[in-house]
Amino acid sequence: MDCIFCKIVAGEIPSTKVYEDDRVLAFRDIAPQAPTHILVIPKEHIPSFACITEENAPLAAHVLAVAAKIAHDEGLEEGGYRIVSNCGENAGQTVPHLHFHILGGRKMTIEMA
Ligand code: 5GP
Ligand code: ZN
Repeated sequence: MDCIFCKIVAGEIPSTKVYEDDRVLAFRDIAPQAPTHILVIPKEHIPSFACITEENAPLAAHVLAVAAKIAHDEGLEEGGYRIVSNCGENAGQTVPHLHFHILGGRKMTIEMA
């Protein structure tokens, strides 16, 4: 599978892991856009948010629950934080493996773009 994040899951590309269980991996973004910038991904290759279905929704829900726990553990709850999943070209998705960005530690801009 020629997918950067699948290679990170397989340990073929190193990453700074923040959390791991049998279904989910979280690691620090290589090009952080905020003081805290973590990516949370399912280990299973799901290409994007658009590929979430009733069948894999329990896995997607687990990814989100892990994201909330990580944000808590990283101390982001008090100041607040942002969860982002870019889906497709217009959103600027660059890695075609479902991922949620956790962004915190600074004031986010209001714009949705
Ligand atoms: P997207 O643009 O698809 O929403 O987000 C992809 C993110 O993956 C980007 O923020 C980018 O910096 C990050 N990224 C790309 N390649 C790597 C990598 O090899 N290691 C890590 N830790 N992050 C990566
Ligand atoms: Zn993948």
